[in-house]
Amino acid sequence: MMSQISLFEQYPIHLPLRSGGATVSARIAKSILTPATGFISAFDYSLNPYSGCQFGCAYCYAAFFVPNVRKADEWGRWVDVKVNALELLQKARNVRGKTIYVGSVTDPYQPIEAKTHLTRSLLQHMSRLQPQPRLVIQTRSPLITRDADVLRRFRHLRAGVSVTTDSESVRKRFEPSCPSIDQRLRTLKALKEAGIRTSACISPMLPILNPAGFADRLREVRADVYVTQPFKESRGPFAAGTRRMALELVKEFDWGPDKRRKTVDILRSRLPHLYEGSSGYRPE
Ligand code: SF4
Repeated sequence: MMSQISLFEQYPIHLPLRSGGATVSARIAKSILTPATGFISAFDYSLNPYSGCQFGCAYCYAAFFVPNVRKADEWGRWVDVKVNALELLQKARNVRGKTIYVGSVTDPYQPIEAKTHLTRSLLQHMSRLQPQPRLVIQTRSPLITRDADVLRRFRHLRAGVSVTTDSESVRKRFEPSCPSIDQRLRTLKALKEAGIRTSACISPMLPILNPAGFADRLREVRADVYVTQPFKESRGPFAAGTRRMALELVKEFDWGPDKRRKTVDILRSRLPHLYEGSSGYRPE
């Protein structure tokens, strides 16, 4: 049974000790906005309400940014809640009118958000600023639809939902703790119906069993942007267990560069405006 505790009196967020299979901790963050680099360098900042991610995808590169080796190895089994995130954002200068990517190294709508409402509070604050920041929010969770009322208040906002494969058996191997493919497609549809601009992100592109059928399912959600990114096989200087696990799975599924290229070609033939790589992650 979950027990509720208040870890920091000055930040009245009551946290469970565990959420799903993950240990939950409160953390006092030093900053909440980080200058954006890499594939999101077109943005001014990234914003991550949490450190760690309960979804724990086998391929997640975010684990490599965790300086603590034990925590990197245990990626997916812990989440730190930045309990002072709202205070930091309220004090931050240069937020008005800036482009911000929400969820570059965590999922802002992972299960713990249902209890903390932390992402929601940050969005509420930003929605009141003039000029408002221009946001892209990245998730794979249906929980984002809870906040449709706040998302709709932004003049410039796009909600990205990652749909990485058409196969539940592939999904369960690479992303066993994540919402199902159907849930994600329904989320994209619901956001669109709520008047929110969306991106369907086939990223990273995991083994796809029926590319033509997948493209047709994706087209039905009428996303404003479709984007794909190849599965990256390079190990780089990092060799975390999660990365090795994903590489082994890729081998098991025989998901080599040729198959990936052919799959992108089929997707593109049915989704003519499919972006590849960072061009699909531009600010709104
Ligand atoms: S949902 Fe995103 S941040 Fe979380 S583990 Fe998966 S890839 Fe990493």
